[in-house]
Amino acid sequence: METIAQSIYSEFVQQVQAQQVAKVLIQADRIDYQLKAAWGNQRYQTRSIGSVADVQGFLRDNGVEFTVVPEVNSTASGLIGLLVSAGMMFGAWALLNKFSKEGSDFGNGLGNGFGSGFGNGGSKARVYGNGKTGVTFEDVAGVDEAKRELQEVVDFLKDGEKYRSIGAKLPKGVLLVGPPGTGKTLMAKAIAGEAGVPFLSMSGSEFVELYVGVGASRVRDLFNQAKRKAPCIIFIDELDAIGKSRGNNINGNDEREQTLNQLLTEMDGFDGNAGVIVVAATNRPEVLDAALRRPGRFDRQVLVDRPDKIGRAQILKVHGASVRLGADVDLDVIATLTSGFAGADLANLVNESALMAARHNRTSIAMADFKEAFERVVAGLEKRSRVLNPMERQIVAYHEVGHALVGALMPGGGKVSKISIVPRGSSALGYTMQTPEEDRFLMLENELKGRIATLLGGRSAEEIVFGRVSTGASDDIQKATDLAQKAVTQYGMSESLGPIAFESQQSQFLDNGTTRRSISSEVSVEIDRLLKQSIDEAHAVAIAILRHNRSLLESVTQRLLEVEVLEGEELATLLAQVQAPIGIEDWL
Ligand code: ADP
Ligand code: MG
Ligand code: ZN
Repeated sequence: METIAQSIYSEFVQQVQAQQVAKVLIQADRIDYQLKAAWGNQRYQTRSIGSVADVQGFLRDNGVEFTVVPEVNSTASGLIGLLVSAGMMFGAWALLNKFSKEGSDFGNGLGNGFGSGFGNGGSKARVYGNGKTGVTFEDVAGVDEAKRELQEVVDFLKDGEKYRSIGAKLPKGVLLVGPPGTGKTLMAKAIAGEAGVPFLSMSGSEFVELYVGVGASRVRDLFNQAKRKAPCIIFIDELDAIGKSRGNNINGNDEREQTLNQLLTEMDGFDGNAGVIVVAATNRPEVLDAALRRPGRFDRQVLVDRPDKIGRAQILKVHGASVRLGADVDLDVIATLTSGFAGADLANLVNESALMAARHNRTSIAMADFKEAFERVVAGLEKRSRVLNPMERQIVAYHEVGHALVGALMPGGGKVSKISIVPRGSSALGYTMQTPEEDRFLMLENELKGRIATLLGGRSAEEIVFGRVSTGASDDIQKATDLAQKAVTQYGMSESLGPIAFESQQSQFLDNGTTRRSISSEVSVEIDRLLKQSIDEAHAVAIAILRHNRSLLESVTQRLLEVEVLEGEELATLLAQVQAPIGIEDWL
């Protein structure tokens, strides 16, 4: 017996926006849905807040398949009505089960088969929206970098003649990459809006139809329309639904493949100067077929990332403008609280706060409503584990600053150019970026040592500040150990063993079935000793540097917690204050 969990509507909204929802069944007063296999196939039930039409529109915008269960005739007796709707529910869930048992990739357009059982027009894929979008760059906040990059595309569309007359080739395809809900779709609309050109849009999952050939002919149709309407934008949302690498699907999905091939053909077929620019969006760039990235296709990639604190304040301002905010509402405070939120999460937060205020019969939103809504929204987000609690945030901040301070004193590692604690996806909680000053192909021995110390800087900071370490440093330790081992076994950087390569360079195995040469047990012990020694030394150096700069560690971390991203001149000024403890030169 499967369980059906209850969820609040905002959670449903989140899950839809995060592309976690596979199938939705809309009924007059409630919504039944199931998550994709990757999210455990869990079924949920929630009460609908909006009208059926609103929910339909929302799902369509997010490319989620749905079916509307026709309302049971209200004149029928209560009992019969109940039986009928129960029967329909059963039928629908049976279908859901059938699909999930087939183990197919949900969200890739099984929806038509699903919907056809009810003969309902609602789930029919929208072919494309047309006309002016009315969205401008002002509506998209907190992603200035992406806007700057896309401004050029707007210029191409607006004033193609200027570029053509010089003989410049206009780009054909731009790929917007970023986590769900960061505003990729919105951004695509804004490009069209800014340029004042038509916007033809379609979602990848809509392309993949039940009958072979339909997807491909839709692509052809879409491009033909676009050429007539040029200059214009073709927007393909969820490009991964059709653009998944063709190699790694054993069963093969002929329909998807044909659709993808047609898309590639169309993109190759039109002249870049025709004034049609294809913008696509995906949150899974890694699964895309390499053919899509070739020159003349989606050769430009623009990152639309989660906003930092300033970005979040800007987004809150955009969405706050359409509701009535009370005098005590401080959007900067809310921006501070919402680390890890994407634009869609913030839009949802504003909306939930408005609902909360209405529930309390207020005429404007109070800070208390925001707080209450915040807790509900976070509860939904935490399941996706990307919101750090305050303690975790502190640990991550000290950790990253630890890398940066140690790295600042090390030779050849390049400048530490950015420290960030804005969560990215589920893996990296924060990161420190080092930009090499020049292209380097060789690493000197002291640089290698410095690199190991820098890698251990994160963990060392945790030790100094908290007296214990978190699991967050495991990747650093892995990398540091690998480097230290290579120094001894591949680069011949130890005095006692000398320039003997103990690892085979080639990937093939040596006679003894491993990549390590057969070595005496004495040598093996020596390798282990050297490895431990170099890690211990590097660790001690990292600790010494951080102890020596304890108050700087503190102040930089506090600043990082405040602004979340440190870069540019401010970071350079801070790192210039790092003092070298005595003896570091000798060690290097
Ligand atoms: P994506 O396509 O990246 O998943 P969407 O563009 O569909 O995200 O975003 C959904 C909604 O969230 C938008 O319609 C908008 O209301 C809000 N939103 C997302 N990002 C932003 C942003 N950067 N600025 C303002 N609003 C945003
Ligand atoms: Mg989108
Ligand atoms: Zn680290």
